[in-house]
Amino acid sequence: MDKIEKIKILSKYALFDMENTDIPSSFMECVRDVCTPKGKMKVLKILQTSYCDKNCLYCMFRRDREKTERVFISPEELADVFMKMYERGIVKGLFLSSGVYKHPEFVSEKMIDTVIILRKKYGYRGYIHTKIMPGVSLQTVEEAVKWSDRVSVNLEAPNEKRLKAIAKGKSILNDMLLKIEKISKLLENYKRKDQITQIMVGTSDETDEELLRSAHYLYKKYKVKRVYYSAFFPVKDTPMENKPPTPKEREYRLYQADFLIKRYGFSPKEFTFINGFLPLDRDPKELWAEKNMDLFPIDVNSADFETLIRVPGIGPVTARKIIEYRKYRTIKDVEQLRKLGCNVKKAYKYIKLPQGYLFHQRM
Ligand code: SF4
Repeated sequence: MDKIEKIKILSKYALFDMENTDIPSSFMECVRDVCTPKGKMKVLKILQTSYCDKNCLYCMFRRDREKTERVFISPEELADVFMKMYERGIVKGLFLSSGVYKHPEFVSEKMIDTVIILRKKYGYRGYIHTKIMPGVSLQTVEEAVKWSDRVSVNLEAPNEKRLKAIAKGKSILNDMLLKIEKISKLLENYKRKDQITQIMVGTSDETDEELLRSAHYLYKKYKVKRVYYSAFFPVKDTPMENKPPTPKEREYRLYQADFLIKRYGFSPKEFTFINGFLPLDRDPKELWAEKNMDLFPIDVNSADFETLIRVPGIGPVTARKIIEYRKYRTIKDVEQLRKLGCNVKKAYKYIKLPQGYLFHQRM
């Protein structure tokens, strides 16, 4: 098989690996716009190999799945094709993942070799995201951080118990968290590098509460840049092929709650859960506000930033604009608020304006 054919197969599989979607129909679908520490850009997502010695129940690359086409591409071949794509302006960055082939150290070495060839032989200084393999040594992690802009240790599940149920050979406590901690320390020496992680949603029967508690912990303790939630999608010829897919609405509500944790300082215990799950039909911030009506209405002309962003319909950008605006003038009516970016329909129940200026007159 020539290297172009290998690249086509491995990049299609990488898309599955990242986003748990169906195999795309064309090669170019594997070039995706991605938000990176260097800005938004077109990135080639590719695997070093689709061989894997592990047997995670949900995964297309699991050892026992016979239908998966097994391909390995050498560091030289991969670097060569990537550079051709880069020089033609097809891609601006690389996301390199892999199955765990032979041994975590073996495949990680190949991945790092690919990156080093790009950096040293071709002088490539662009974006590279390298996935950290489960079971690899901390020394290898250090090497991956040195040459990459972004690294990721994918937890896949929110805690040890849930992970063990779907991926027996992996451990959060004895492996992944140690790596995340190590990376977090290493990143203190770099301004423009970061680490992210991915957790699958609905694969291990976990609750939203478990997922958000884990995300909160990762943000606070290890300054992980972002947690990606990936809705489970069953893959044929795996032990989980008959498990129903996770509704996208669940993933969406998790992202909303996650945003509130990361950007608004919410704690998971402030959310409303029903049997551990966020209600799918309600915005988590609105639910929180309804539960805490005793804190409202707040005065938009005097409330501080932290109080303003707790109001449904007011985000951090609008809150900053409100604070700036009222340095010079009093906010008197709904129109002014609207111009500052406030979603007045959502916010009106929770805020008050100076006496005599009533919301309903202008709604
Ligand atoms: S280790 Fe990764 S690639 Fe291998 S089976 Fe598990 S999830 Fe799939």
